[in-house]
Amino acid sequence: MVYDVIIVGAGPGGIFSAYELVHRNPKLKIAVYESGYPLEKRRCPVDGDRVKSCVKCPVCAIMSGFGGAGAFSDGKYNITNDFGGTLYEHIGRASALELMKYVDGINTAYGGDGTAMYSTAGTRFKKLCLQNRLQLLDASVRHLGTDINYVVLENLYQELKDKVSFFFETPVERLEVLEEGFRVFHRNGYDDGRRCIVSVGRSGSKWMEKVCRDLEIGTKSNRVDIGVRVELPAVIFSHLTDELYESKIVYRTEKFEDQVRTFCMNPRGIVVNENTNGIVTVNGHSYEGKEKQTENTNFALLVSKRFSEPFKDSNGYGESIARLSNMLGGGVIVQRFGDLVRGRRSNERRIEESTVTPTLAATPGDLSLVLPKRILDGIMEMIYALDKIAPGTANDDTLLYGVEVKFYNMEVDIDEHLETRYKGLYVIGDGSGVTHSLSHASASGVYVARRIAGEEA
Ligand SMILES: Cc1cc2nc3c(=O)[nH]c(=O)nc-3n(C[C@H](O)[C@H](O)[C@H](O)COP(=O)(O)OP(=O)(O)OC[C@H]3O[C@@H](n4cnc5c(N)ncnc54)[C@H](O)[C@@H]3O)c2cc1C
Repeated sequence: MVYDVIIVGAGPGGIFSAYELVHRNPKLKIAVYESGYPLEKRRCPVDGDRVKSCVKCPVCAIMSGFGGAGAFSDGKYNITNDFGGTLYEHIGRASALELMKYVDGINTAYGGDGTAMYSTAGTRFKKLCLQNRLQLLDASVRHLGTDINYVVLENLYQELKDKVSFFFETPVERLEVLEEGFRVFHRNGYDDGRRCIVSVGRSGSKWMEKVCRDLEIGTKSNRVDIGVRVELPAVIFSHLTDELYESKIVYRTEKFEDQVRTFCMNPRGIVVNENTNGIVTVNGHSYEGKEKQTENTNFALLVSKRFSEPFKDSNGYGESIARLSNMLGGGVIVQRFGDLVRGRRSNERRIEESTVTPTLAATPGDLSLVLPKRILDGIMEMIYALDKIAPGTANDDTLLYGVEVKFYNMEVDIDEHLETRYKGLYVIGDGSGVTHSLSHASASGVYVARRIAGEEA
């Protein structure tokens, strides 16, 4: 079969490419190949009851399928160039912001109407943070919540399903450059496309690296972020989360002058496992609906590690640390902050007696046996700094889950059109190493779709 556009990956990048193509030029023949399942078939077997921890399914229902890694996410669409990726370096700041706002308009039109938009503009917390060696980053954030995010995805699928050919459970195994166009090989044979948009996200990082190697597309080694997920009573952060929902706060450590930052804050949310290529790490999300909210707030504290030559494998470094926690804890480890400070492991009894009830069944243990000292010192310093703007953060019963690792894809060599050295081959979303968020990944999809539709007009 010959298509006008082949899209690899049905995460936000792929979905928004397809959406924009269909709306700009309904005549285009578009195919989307996706390793995972359609939305309604995506089920993680961990139910906290019968199946307590990750069983390492061959295709992770959390990371793959229609909606990509974002399907069960908190649905926080941050509209900012300050974090979430460096799309603006390719397409310009104004264009990146305009596209993120456009994506927000689509999300609200397809079910997100009525959800809250928060903003740091004019907040008094900026000053409070600065007075305590902390920096609050600027952003507007639409919080869809896991439940409404799912509804938006359902509606987008209904919109697209008759206009686009979706092939689920069909990973693209190989990508070949033809004289005119591209050929994708999959379990049913192959198909050709005059243009190809690759949007394979983090779960497709190894595949992406291979494609770049085979097609001699340049890549740059990227960073890895390593840290823990903090869980504490929601009231401790409620003055911040009620006004801002998510506060992205950066701290420069006194000891090493490393940067530690908050990431993915989930007021009244839950902590979850994340399985990337068989390695279990921790993440979190929260629901918009009050009935599913918890008494706890969670967020990550991450330290970015960048390496210089000759070491290139920053993700491998992150993976080794995550493997160590998987080896010791059989998955994710949980520790009370008080136990960490006293240099002792947490055990079942101490976790049970804690005033914070964990929302994830993790193995009580000792994070100091897993995380490098420099990273752990930075995290502890930041917890004490946060305690000044949110007293209680450094309480003994604050829970730390480890490890949280943000793997970044190698940065693929793409130009200002997000196009590789092969005309018509685009790499977008988190798979490009350029975006790391729902809003940036979605915006990159709209961007290439507009270019393709413009060329076809
Ligand atoms: C639990 C969790 C919570 C998160 N919360 C937030 C949040 O609140 N806000 C935010 O901004 N970001 C959040 N993120 C990150 C966000 O989900 C990603 O940045 C975003 O989904 C990236 O979109 P993408 O389309 O580039 O890639 P993905 O969403 O990863 O989608 C890529 C798709 O490609 C498919 N694929 C991979 N390889 C192949 C192949 N060879 N053939 C066919 N298909 C393939 C995968 O199965 C996947 O479905 C969260 C992530 C997780 C895991």
